[in-house]
Amino acid sequence: MSNWKTEFQRAFKNLNKLYEFLEWDLSPEIEAVAATYSLFVPYNLAVKIKRTGPNSALARQFLPHLDELNPKGFNDPIGDRQHSKSAQIIHRYDARALFTPTTVCPVHCRYCFRKNELNQGEEFFDPNFEETLSYLKNHSEINEIIFTGGDPFTLSDQKIAFYLNAFKDIRHIKDIRFHTRYPVIMPERITDELVETLNSFKEHFRTLSIAVHTNHLEEFDSFTDEAIKKLAGFQLLTQTVLLKGINDNTQTLFELFDHCLNLKMRPYYLHHPDQVKGGMHFYLSLEEGRKLFQPLRNLLPGWALPHYIIDIPEGHGKINAFNPETYHYSSKLIGIRGEIISSPEPKI
Ligand code: SF4
Repeated sequence: MSNWKTEFQRAFKNLNKLYEFLEWDLSPEIEAVAATYSLFVPYNLAVKIKRTGPNSALARQFLPHLDELNPKGFNDPIGDRQHSKSAQIIHRYDARALFTPTTVCPVHCRYCFRKNELNQGEEFFDPNFEETLSYLKNHSEINEIIFTGGDPFTLSDQKIAFYLNAFKDIRHIKDIRFHTRYPVIMPERITDELVETLNSFKEHFRTLSIAVHTNHLEEFDSFTDEAIKKLAGFQLLTQTVLLKGINDNTQTLFELFDHCLNLKMRPYYLHHPDQVKGGMHFYLSLEEGRKLFQPLRNLLPGWALPHYIIDIPEGHGKINAFNPETYHYSSKLIGIRGEIISSPEPKI
């Protein structure tokens, strides 16, 4: 495999060059989309897109689409700004904080819930580590730091070590989690040196988890699988976004999760899509989502069933998508084969 930094440099950022490589027709309307939401497709991913075709799950996730110009949706659908406590910290839940040390990703996902922020180059994510450290030290209720972004594996090994070194000295920080798309998008990044760097911090934290962001089986090949196997010494989780036209059926999700389990990754989150401006064409109703999620109970080991969750717009946080009304019983249950069952509230 080639060097990941070289892969970064030779990624397609220019729509004309990408379509020339794909040998597909490019319409002027799509150029208008790419002018609004930037393009970034690594070369090896482009090879896979070419092989799987314009209607594939890969093409739909990473190539611009006319529907992105639909003005509906929120710029900040999950209310990150409301919970931003320093330039690098988003603190929404008491016990855990998001740490955003970079805005750079190995690909630009067209459905991304931060697509309006990552492309604007605003100061929202600008680093000011002293401020970050001071916030974390003063909030002893925070036990877990979640590296996100952007994609945290964009940082050099030295920078990752620098941050982990600082966090290990804060006594109440017990757990570290990285959320990353690199293993399936640019597996070259999972080098022996990165694994060694992470390994050297394992003893300082209660858990060191890596949550791999993956949405479809088409993302995997022998290189991705080898990269993921290198991470076997960490708690390996997955997060998936439910996306209309990509993985919105039970069998597709089952095949994805089954493959993740083969690679010792535990399906952790299935996110209902966020109502992000520029990504509303991936949105589906909660009812549709619930119908296709419930049969997974019939197919996966119970412990491998991901949490199906929805982020309530405007910063109210994640709740169980299966029963978002929480206290109020809707009198409708969905059976394990997707059937709707009307049922009176159970009497206890
Ligand atoms: S890798 Fe994550 S943060 Fe980056 S563009 Fe994709 S969904 Fe957004």
